[in-house]
Amino acid sequence: MTPASLTKATNSESQIISPLDSCNGRFVSPSPSRHALRTLHKRLCWEVGLRSQSECSSWAVGDSVTITASNGRITSLSGLNQCGGALCPRCSGIKSSQDRSNLDRVIPYAMSSGFNAYFVTLTQNKKINVAGSINSLRSGLSSMTTALRNARRALNAEVISYGVIENVISCHEDRVLIGNKFYNQIHSHYHQIILIRKSKTYSRKDQTSCNHDQTILDKMISGYERGLKKAGSYVSRSNGIDIQQIKHHDQENISKYLTKVSSMAYEVTLSSNKEGKSRSFHQLLKDIFTFNDTEDIKTYKQILEANIRKKIIFRSRSFGAMVKELDALEEDEMLCQLEDTESKREETKCKELTVEISKDIWKAFSWNGVSDLILDLVSDASIGKNKWLFDELNYFLSDDNGFKFRYHRGTNYYKRLKSLVSLLEEVMLS
Ligand SMILES: [Zn+2]
Repeated sequence: MTPASLTKATNSESQIISPLDSCNGRFVSPSPSRHALRTLHKRLCWEVGLRSQSECSSWAVGDSVTITASNGRITSLSGLNQCGGALCPRCSGIKSSQDRSNLDRVIPYAMSSGFNAYFVTLTQNKKINVAGSINSLRSGLSSMTTALRNARRALNAEVISYGVIENVISCHEDRVLIGNKFYNQIHSHYHQIILIRKSKTYSRKDQTSCNHDQTILDKMISGYERGLKKAGSYVSRSNGIDIQQIKHHDQENISKYLTKVSSMAYEVTLSSNKEGKSRSFHQLLKDIFTFNDTEDIKTYKQILEANIRKKIIFRSRSFGAMVKELDALEEDEMLCQLEDTESKREETKCKELTVEISKDIWKAFSWNGVSDLILDLVSDASIGKNKWLFDELNYFLSDDNGFKFRYHRGTNYYKRLKSLVSLLEEVMLS
């Protein structure tokens, strides 16, 4: 059964867009550009009163804006206002790529220093009440955190953790019919990487290493269940909770082991971009762009509202400490093997792309509503896409031209700049 609202009003019966095609990442219409999706996100944020997210990266806070990209991703964006919102497509993207590279380093390092690594997934039942689902998950997580802290103290164990809340929305075909209306179902759950090490003072002879970790994980899960129950939700231990250990013997096959670490890091940092049977938050935005379905828009807004001023990423203090430790270690190594590192640095430098844009020029671009296009262009150029367009842009944005631009608005130069902007719009939006 297809809810009537999912078909395009202008289409005849034979041209109905099947909502099934939105699942598994298969699109009937061309995939919307990042720019278009961000603009849509900002508009929806504005509609629910999330001002900071709706105005994310709109203006230069300093004298210039510096964009750095590598491998098709913006790695740093300085001089531009950032909302820092956990659900903002740009801010969360920047943050998660940093976190992912940190996890890629932290997991193998921690494991080589005696930590056991586990990948924990905590779920709950599906709901149609978005705020209820997110709030009950948070209640579960807060009980879990307390239980984990108590267990850690009782056993005097060292624990490093990194976790993220993921909101998955049912596909159109899985909607629930109540009365004569179809409702989306939401499935909020939590992914976590947890690293546990026995303290040196741990001396229970009768317990093996496995029991030590198991005690901590058991207490954590019981805490989670308690918190869920308190908020009126439930989870089945057999298929709602999943714990996988990354085995040390995987280290024998080092590449297999590193791939596994990377995929875990990917799962906890970029899971909102994943495409699967159900729809991720990001997929929901794409679907809104394509179908403009009122139920989807409602769900998206409710997710935004339920997360106002709330964290969705949870890093333990020990995680930050280990990142710092690794940074310091790497710095030491750099001093020891200067030559080696310098050549390595050159390598990474080549892959990175940095562009500096003066405040005035940024303002002109912002004013034309294409600042997002510049960002897309820079990230594309870092993987070799649209290189010619990027070179052209770089010419316009160079210091000399920026200077001229400042003093000769209204001249031919300005016209060329404007035509470049419309060219950009055309290319990036097509
Ligand atoms: Zn943002």
